[in-house]
Amino acid sequence: MQHTVSPVGIVRSCFKEKFAIPRQQQLAPAARGVLELLPPFDHGDAVAGLEHVSHVWLLFLFHQALEDKPRLKVRPPRLGGNKSMGVFATRATHRPNGIGQSVVRLEGVEPGRLLLSGIDLLDGTPVLDIKPYVPYADRVADACNLMASEAPVAIAVGWEDSALLQAGAHALRLGEPLVELIEQCLAQDPRPAYQVPPVERVYGVKFWDVQVRWHYPQLERIQVLEVTLDS
Ligand code: SAM
Repeated sequence: MQHTVSPVGIVRSCFKEKFAIPRQQQLAPAARGVLELLPPFDHGDAVAGLEHVSHVWLLFLFHQALEDKPRLKVRPPRLGGNKSMGVFATRATHRPNGIGQSVVRLEGVEPGRLLLSGIDLLDGTPVLDIKPYVPYADRVADACNLMASEAPVAIAVGWEDSALLQAGAHALRLGEPLVELIEQCLAQDPRPAYQVPPVERVYGVKFWDVQVRWHYPQLERIQVLEVTLDS
């Protein structure tokens, strides 16, 4: 049986590229975005009642990871990228039908728009459905996952004085918690697990409309070097 689905909305996110997006929702509470609803769901009727809800489930398409050939095994970054697991044992982006799911905080509800935080979604992500989080049913007190029992260990993030000033100025301009966003995302250590970066290697990523550059003065420590408008 085949079934066609159509997005109910598109996420406008702080994350403009896949690199440095946290591996799960809620790891960066300062990661914000807007879910713009598409017709006919861009009407107040479709979101009536959501103001009573703190979090929503988003079912979405990993639109930048779609593949024709199904994979049975994947190498999750969480396991260092060198151990393969059954695709259904992981939350990997490469999966049958390319469907992802995230529980995110609902910061605001407007006709045609949901304001979100704690997201792990790329800009432009098509959302297939939205459901309210129901604590009594969705919270599972005795749940366990021996492969991912705790959030990844955060690493230290330091700032060059000038970079912190730049980030503060862009935060004011954007009206976004940019300093927190950078700290929360870089603390997840976005570099691939197998990479041991030399001190001189500079990494970069775009959040909102700014480029953030950093290096690793030590293996488990990030120093933010500059935060500049992306040209
Ligand atoms: N919470 C979701 C889940 O469990 O289905 C997503 C988990 S997935 C491991 C998170 C990663 O998906 C992010 O680090 C980001 O690199 C990637 N990602 C987010 N949105 C995407 C999109 N639209 N297309 C492809 N990859 C995406």
